[in-house]
Amino acid sequence: MQERTFAIVKPDAFRKGYTGEIIGEIAKAGFKVVAIKKASISKAQAAGFYAVHKDRPFFDSLTAFMSSGPIVMMVLEKANAIADWRKLMGATNPANAEEGTLRKKFAGSIEENAVHGSDAPETAAFEIGYWFAGYELI
Ligand code: GDP
Repeated sequence: MQERTFAIVKPDAFRKGYTGEIIGEIAKAGFKVVAIKKASISKAQAAGFYAVHKDRPFFDSLTAFMSSGPIVMMVLEKANAIADWRKLMGATNPANAEEGTLRKKFAGSIEENAVHGSDAPETAAFEIGYWFAGYELI
């Protein structure tokens, strides 16, 4: 069964010019890019997206970072998309990320860690709906 997940090339990776290489890895891993757009988001939009983290000590810094420059947002589709995209991303902290993962290759720190991916079907549904309209997902 096909599954969809939500992905972001974060501002650090965009700024460093890694977007093309990251999309190449996504294609190589067999994901279909259902939707894609570049955006510069506000701190308030980032806060809504990361609302589950609002009580964490890094919330203000994270939302400032996410609104610090352009990002690329994508909806990816394949069988097992959510888990497979998390695997390709690697651990949140690049110091713990496995060889061959995007965060191992491109992340600079635990916060500026290059990519985002939904962690469960419920979060994927929320995140896709937060950034994309239904007509963009046909
Ligand atoms: P993810 O699902 O791997 O992206 O990780 P989380 O959902 O736990 O955290 C969301 C994002 O917050 C991460 O991707 C990082 O950008 C940032 N983050 C997570 N943990 C920390 C931390 O301990 N310190 C800081 N500064 N940022 C963090």
